[in-house]
Parts: sequence; structure tokens; C-alpha cells
Amino acid sequence: MPLEVKPRFVVLYGSQKGQAQSIAEGIAEEAEEHGLVADLCCLNQNDKYNLEKERAPVVFVVSTTGDGEPPDNALQFVKRIKKRTLSPDHYKHLLYALLALGDTNYANFCNCGKTIERRLRELGAKQFYPTGYADDGVGLELVIDPWLKGLWNSIKDTLSKMASDRTVQLKEDSAKEIPESSLPDVQLNLLSIADKQISPKTQACSEGVPQVSLAASLTSSLPPLSESSLNVPSLPPPYLDVALQEADAVEQAVERLSKETCNEVPISKAVQLSKGDSVKTALLLELDISAFPSMTYHPGDSFDVFCPNVAEEVDHLLHRLGLQDQKNHRVQISLKHNTKKRGAQVPPHIPENVSLLFLLTWCLEIRSVPKKAFLRALVEHTSDSAQKRRLQELCSKQGAADYNLYVRDPSLSVSELLTAFPSCSPSLSLLIELLPKLQPRPYSAASSHLRHPEKLRFVFNVVEFPACSGRPTGRRGLCTGWLFDLVNPGLVFPEKAELALPKIHVSLRPSCSFRPPSDPSLPFIMIGPGTGVAPFIGFLQQREEEKKENPEAKFGETWLFFGCRYRNKDYLFREELENFVSSGTLNHLKVCFSREDRKDEEEPPSAAQPRYVQHNLLLCCRQVTDILLRQDGYIYVCGDAKNMAKDVNETLVEMIKTELQVDQLEAMKTLAGLREQKRYLQDIWA
Ligand code: FAD
Repeated sequence: MPLEVKPRFVVLYGSQKGQAQSIAEGIAEEAEEHGLVADLCCLNQNDKYNLEKERAPVVFVVSTTGDGEPPDNALQFVKRIKKRTLSPDHYKHLLYALLALGDTNYANFCNCGKTIERRLRELGAKQFYPTGYADDGVGLELVIDPWLKGLWNSIKDTLSKMASDRTVQLKEDSAKEIPESSLPDVQLNLLSIADKQISPKTQACSEGVPQVSLAASLTSSLPPLSESSLNVPSLPPPYLDVALQEADAVEQAVERLSKETCNEVPISKAVQLSKGDSVKTALLLELDISAFPSMTYHPGDSFDVFCPNVAEEVDHLLHRLGLQDQKNHRVQISLKHNTKKRGAQVPPHIPENVSLLFLLTWCLEIRSVPKKAFLRALVEHTSDSAQKRRLQELCSKQGAADYNLYVRDPSLSVSELLTAFPSCSPSLSLLIELLPKLQPRPYSAASSHLRHPEKLRFVFNVVEFPACSGRPTGRRGLCTGWLFDLVNPGLVFPEKAELALPKIHVSLRPSCSFRPPSDPSLPFIMIGPGTGVAPFIGFLQQREEEKKENPEAKFGETWLFFGCRYRNKDYLFREELENFVSSGTLNHLKVCFSREDRKDEEEPPSAAQPRYVQHNLLLCCRQVTDILLRQDGYIYVCGDAKNMAKDVNETLVEMIKTELQVDQLEAMKTLAGLREQKRYLQDIWA
């Protein structure tokens, strides 16, 4: 029996955070269901594919990173195809489709995909399926899902057309002996949407691409999910009885949330530290703690800010619960008799004798991302059958990918979910059972008590959540958005303002270990890009004061690695840092700018072209490792936990490997040893 050879195509991806890669992997996996075979490669594996000779259709899936740059693993490919020496028919034989991922919240939307497409065309390649431009700003899935759906027919049509062309060719060849490379181009009558001036948000509606209405969203699904039977989690048993009672006096004191340890302190100053809209909005707030002797803090300490839920969101929830008229009633919570729930208790974060309004404003995180158990419970309170089904899907095993895509990844809030599912009317007891405690947000002190005994400063970026399926417009982070509204538009208050300054509730969170070395003669290294620089301003102010008090004492060297996007937009504390250098408090200040032009844009960022703090760290490998491994010095890392802290950690391992000439494992052990000795300290947040 002849061996069946499945038609083949190629999938190439360039991916920074793994999204493009997982889409490419999904395409390769699904190929089999369509009777096809896909060769999957990352664009940097150029020993595994050869576009110069490739005759099969090629599907590119590429993301864009930063301000329009290719992902690291596509950089070399982009550099290669950009070479001006390539002739206009270099890729004349190539048939391609391209899915570009980007985010309209950033400049140069889908720039990498557009660059690749432009060059492929300039080099003679032909498109066999319109390019999709997916926008993370509104939800990638709006374009990705219909694009993927339409891809398969296009690939199959293209392959069968190629096969029939080839048959014709072979017949002619047998007469004329024409080399394979001069096969005629396959002319496809598909419109590219790449060059039309259409908003990326509407691109999927273009001719030749399936309609957006076909797309799945938070509230609707596509086959196979919409047709499959579902495994849903079991229903969490209700365990609380909640009653509302008219009451004359109910507690509204926020202090009760922190067992009386929080203080209501005035904001004495608010300054915007960043400029322009291509960077995150960074604010510095100064609190006047003169009336609170118990708030003496040390460099490295942080403190909690208690923030309320947004009044409109609370109001919306009250309406949904049908309890608008009872918002000032006292909430009485008790355990259900005979509850089977193990360890059931009245949530300890809800004080007794509070009003319903207070409970929804200060006690429950109504912005929390609904867990699957919560979605499951909501099913029972939803009247519309389509909405009920969709909630079941989202909490089911089969709908796990949709849950991640539409709920978890975009951090959809409970309020947003309820807006999207209008027939869902949960009970108050269900919300109290399943919503977590509204947590205070910690911030690192960005000042020294020694220098500013009556003040406590902190700095933060206003968190922005882009619009997505289920969130028609973007919103700010809860605490940072609230603080922003509180001080805006009065940013940069006059020092001795007559007007009543807003007050906020805060409580100290002393740190045990994130402190400058107790022996001031020991050198230390600080790594704090962006708002991660905050505690180090405190460290350096403290050091400057100590030096003034004790000019004869021996002080160890200090290093600071700082990074931001642009020198003139978000170089936080620039003047203060430069003054620390002039006064000799800070011996080495290493700064890099991730979005500014580099000498050679084609080259990946590296120690030679530092873009991030770890690149500058590498440049100072010898001195840094000397401080850590030979001088008993300290290293502190503060800021973004997701990328920066991980990258710095990996770089430190590399540096130790090089310096001590040891293998990976040994270098990791050395670093772990520094951690144990509390000489490698982190203060990081997501
Ligand atoms: P929230 O409404 O709580 O939203 C933030 C959450 O959403 C985070 O979990 C984040 O992962 C996620 N998220 C953020 N953006 C998106 C997005 N676009 N899409 C989806 N999800 C997203 N912050 C500072 O700015 N300065 C400091 O000095 C500081 N010090 C800290 C010290 C400690 C010890 C800790 C633990 C944290 C610190 N933080 C600091 C972080 C700070 O506490 C808050 O988490 C941060 O300000 C966001 O609060 P928020 O309420 O505005 O955002």
C-alpha cells in the first residue's frame, strides 16, 4: 500500500512573552485534524528552516514588543530580511500568511508584523491569506479567533492549487525540462488589509477575513466549546445567613479594618514625576506624619494604604443586589445551622456592626478576578439560558482556555462580569462568602525619617487596565486610580496650602531585612528601575544624613542601577540622584533608557548597548562580583517581580559563573548562599 504523504506547510513564530508562540503551536497541533502536517520553528532557529528554498505555504505569527521592536527571537530574522542587498525577487517563490500581535496602547502598533510583511512583499513573496492584526488593547481574540478559523481553508486551497499547478507543470516539464525554481507564481485574489487605513479594531471585518461576529468573546463561545458537554466544578455549599436590619448608628470608621493601628494622615504634597503620555504616570505623594509619633520608619520599610472601592461600582452592585434602599442597614452575618463546610466561619475581615454600604466600600474586593467557584455559584443565580451556559463554560474544564483569555488574563472584575451578564443576580450572602478581603496596598517609603522626621514620601505608577471583551473602556488600578483622583488636579500642592488637604488611612509595615547594611563600612549595590528606586532614595537620604553626623566614619561604596524608558520623561528623582553623586553619597550611578535610540538598532540589546538594568550590571561584572564575593557587600533589588527581578537574578548567576569559573549549579548555589546570609535582598511586587 502506498504511504500517504500529508500536505505540508510551515509555521514560523517570533514571540516575546510566549503568546505568539502558543498560537503558532496551536496551529501546528491543529494541522493534523485537517489532514496536514506543519513544520514549526522559532524565527531564530534559522538552521531548521530555509525560506530561500521553501515551496510550501508559510504562516508567520509574530508579536511586537516595546515601542514597536521585534521580539528578541525575531530580531536576527528581521535584520536579515531588511538587508538592502537582497534582490526584489528574493522571495518570489514564497507564499505566506501573517498574524501580527500588538497593542494599540503603545506606539507603532504591530510594527514587527508590518515590517516583516512589507519586506516579504518587497522581496516578491505572495500573500495567500489576509494579514490579521490582533490588538491586545481591545482583546487579541477579536481578530485571532476568526483569523484562525479562516486560515485552514486558505491553506488547503493554496496547497491544492499548488498541487494542480505542479501537475500541469510536471506534464509540461516532461516535454520541456524546466527547473523547479521557475514554477509560475500562484496568484491569489485575496485582499491584504495591511495597507488599508482601517482601525486595527475593525480590521477583522474586512473583505476576505471572517466577520468579528463569528468571534468568541466573554459572553459567547464558538464550537467546539459551545457544543461540547461540560465538566463543571461542584457547587460550593452556601454557609452564611445574612440579614439586614434598620439601625440608627452603624460603624463607618475605617480604622476598624486594621485593628485600630491605622492612622488618618494628611497628604502634604503631590507631584507628578513623569512627563508625557508615552510613559506610565508616576506620582510622588508626601504624607504629613507630624501628629503620629508612632509612625517612625526606617529605610526599607513600607506601609499600607487603605483604599475604598469606587463609589459608582458600589452603587452599581447595590442596584444589582436590589438593595439600594437598604445601603445604610446594619449587616448581620451568621453561620448557617448545620453547615457542612469544613472550618466555616464568618469572614474575619468584616467587622461587626457595619452598614451594607461600608461593607461593599471597605471590606470586599469587588474588583477581584472571579474564581471558577464563584462563576459556578453565579450559574444558579442567572435566569437567561445563554448566559447561564456561558458561565458554565467559563468555569468548566473544557472552557479553561476561555477563562484564561477572557477572565484571568485581562483581570476582569466581578463588577465587569455582572455588567456583561445582566440576567445574573447574585445574593449578598454569596458575595460575602466568595469575595476576598479588600486588601490595603503596600508602598515603599521613598524618604528617610532622619532627613524628613515629619514626612513620609512614596512614589507609584498609576496602573492602567486596557479595554477588553467585557470591559468597554480601560480603567485604572484601584488604589493608584483612587490616589490619582484624590490629588488631581491639585498636583504639586503649595507647601503651606490653606485648603484642607485630602487625608488617607495608612499603617506601617516595618521590614525586618530590607535595610542598608548595619555596618556602614560595607559596600552595597541597589538595583531599582522605575518606581523600584523608591526605597533607595530613602537609603541614600539616610546615608547622607549619617555622613553629616559622622564625617570621620568609614562608609562603604554605594552603587545604584536605575532604568526607565526616556531620559526626559520618566527618569524619576534625576536631580536628587545627581546631587547624591555630587555629594559623594552615591559613588556609582548607572542609568539606562529602554526606549531611546541605540547605536545599532539591528543589534539585540546587550552589555554593549545597555537597555535594561541587567545589561549595565553585566558591564560592571568585575566590580559587582568583587563586592558580593570578596568584600562581604550587599545587593538589593526592588520593583517589578515579573520580568526585571528574574532577569537580574539570571544575570547575577551568569556573572558569578564567569567570575568564579564555575558551572550553572555552583553559581546558583553561591547566589542562594548570599540570599541566606541576607546579603541578596529583594523587595519586589507584581
Ligand atoms: P490593582 O487594582 O490592585 O491592580 C493591580 C493588579 O493587577 C496587579 O496584580 C497586577 O499584576 C495586575 N495588573 C496590572 N496591570 C494590569 C493589566 N494591564 N492587565 C491585567 N492585569 C494587570 N507599587 C508602587 O508603585 N510603588 C511602590 O513603592 C510599591 N511598593 C510596594 C511594596 C510592597 C512590599 C508590595 C507588596 C507592593 C508594592 N507596590 C508598589 C505595589 C502596590 O502595592 C500596588 O500593587 C500597585 O500600586 C497597584 O495597586 P492598584 O490597587 O492601583 O492596582
